[in-house]
Amino acid sequence: MYQIVADLHTHTLVSNHAFNTITEMAAKAKSMNYKAIAVTDHACAMPDSPHIWYFYNLRRLPDVMEGIPVLKGIEANVMDINGTLDFESSELAKFDWVIASIHGDCLPGTLTVEQATQLWLNIAENPYVDMIGHSEQAKHIYDYDAVTKVFAQKNKVVELNGNSYAVRPDGVGNMQRLALACKKNGCKVALNTDAHSIYHLENGVSHLYKMLEEIDFPEELIINSSGERLLQELTLHNKQVVNRIGDFLL
Ligand SMILES: [Zn+2]
Ligand SMILES: [Zn+2]
Repeated sequence: MYQIVADLHTHTLVSNHAFNTITEMAAKAKSMNYKAIAVTDHACAMPDSPHIWYFYNLRRLPDVMEGIPVLKGIEANVMDINGTLDFESSELAKFDWVIASIHGDCLPGTLTVEQATQLWLNIAENPYVDMIGHSEQAKHIYDYDAVTKVFAQKNKVVELNGNSYAVRPDGVGNMQRLALACKKNGCKVALNTDAHSIYHLENGVSHLYKMLEEIDFPEELIINSSGERLLQELTLHNKQVVNRIGDFLL
C-alpha cells in the first residue's frame, strides 16, 4: 500500500483557474495529516499566471502556515525545444521547489521523440529544476529509459501526476512505461495531485497507487512517501528551507 505525506504540485487562487487560497490549501493539507505542501503556481508565460511580483513576494510568507510547512514553489514553463524556461535562473534559485512542465499554451504542437528526448536531457542539466511535471503527455513522448537514467544522475524527480487522468487522458497509458523506466534506472518520483482546489487534494493520487501496484514500484523511490525521504530529497537539492522546517518533516 502506498501513501504520500506531502503534495508537491498544487495551485492556488492566484492562478485564475484554481479556487482556493494558499491558507485554505495549507489548512486542508494539515487536516489530512500531511507533513508539508508545496504551492506551485504557473510562471508568467501562462495566460492565467499571477503577476511576477507574486513570486517575488511569496518568499516573504512564513515557512509554516496553518501548522504545516508550505514550500514556496513555481511551475515553470518549457518555452522551446531547447528547454528554455520562462523564469530567470537567479530567481528560480530562491524557490523551495521548482517544477518544469510543458503546457500547450507555451510550447504548442507535437514533438518528435528525438526533440522531446533532447528537451528533457537539456532540462536535466538545469541546476534549478527539481521536478519534471506531467511529462507522460501523448504529444511529447520521449526515450524514457535514456532520460530517466540521466534524471537519476542529476537528481531530477519525475512527477507522476494524478490530475493527468482527468485533463491529459491521452498520455495516461505512457505513465506506467515511464514509471517502469524510473524503477529500472533508480530514478526518483513524486506522486502529486496538481490540485486546483482543496477538494482535489483528497484522493487525487489514488489512480497512481493502483498503477504503481501493478508494477510493484519500490516505495523508497517515492520522495513524498515519508517525511524522512522528503527531507533527504530537499537536502540533496540544497534547499535552505530544510534548516527551518526539518523538524516538521520528521
Ligand atoms: Zn502543469
Ligand atoms: Zn499544475
